[in-house]
Amino acid sequence: YFTADTVVFLDGQFIPATQAQCSLYVPSLHYGHAVFEGIRAYQTANGPRVFKAKEHYERLQYSCRAIHMPLAYSVEELTALTYELLEKNNLTNAYIRPLVYAAEPSMGIKTPATSSLFLAAWEWDKYLGDQLMRLTISPYERPNPKAVPIEAKVSGHYANSIIASHEAKSRGYDEALLLDMNGYVAEGPGSNFFYEWDGALYTAPAGNILQGITRNTIIGLARDMGIPVFEEFFTPETLHHATGAFLTGTAAEVVGVASIDDHVFETPYEETIGAKLAAAYAALVREKVGARTTHPVAERSA
Ligand code: PMP
Repeated sequence: YFTADTVVFLDGQFIPATQAQCSLYVPSLHYGHAVFEGIRAYQTANGPRVFKAKEHYERLQYSCRAIHMPLAYSVEELTALTYELLEKNNLTNAYIRPLVYAAEPSMGIKTPATSSLFLAAWEWDKYLGDQLMRLTISPYERPNPKAVPIEAKVSGHYANSIIASHEAKSRGYDEALLLDMNGYVAEGPGSNFFYEWDGALYTAPAGNILQGITRNTIIGLARDMGIPVFEEFFTPETLHHATGAFLTGTAAEVVGVASIDDHVFETPYEETIGAKLAAAYAALVREKVGARTTHPVAERSA
């Protein structure tokens, strides 16, 4: 993630990554009370472009509000800092990781009066690779939105993601597919889930998932192509009728699904809607199409 030359942004300044430090007594580390983002920049004909910067930084602000974490930066400031970070590191295609955490040493279980902003960037291949995923329904549920603000990208939520992913891999699968507290299919540990049936797409509605920015982009692209998209609750049994499926996320982009437990999709992935949308997404992020570059982000329910 960094070399001797890497520059990061921490507490108002650009400094070498090797000098970026924090205390072991910061409450964010002990209690998972921190928020982060995962953003990508792509090389385009107009130079590097941070894809959906506004949406990501608005979600960062939303996540901070949701857990009462102060944030002293506007969307415009965060976006400008991100471009500066890319330039200082000579990065064009990059993954960008903003982290807002409580940096004052304190072991109290309380909201902090101030926060620190850390920004780092590195080159990162597609997070789940290009291979089709073999998913399994996880015995772990996504956290209940009545317990935590699930639509916020809170560091502590990722303990759930890590154990679910580990459990799936321990049974020989590539990735977990988690249900919500009512037994409906929710999402992957770090991605949203879509399935295909009869020429239409289905995905979990907002409420019990992290409402992915890639998910919203894909819904926009699909609707532009005339493909119906239904945001509705569905059980894992429904997936037995599915003809295809894919995962979406900033880091993962669009990844096809080969199977879910013992249900193997017969339609070759290249012939699925997912493959078409993966190509459209790859072109859109690199501004290779005259397509709309902004797709409306649905209102968060929380
Ligand atoms: N769900 C979870 C749990 C995630 O961690 C992510 C990755 N941020 C997503 C969905 C996809 O979100 P996005 O498309 O905004 O990256």
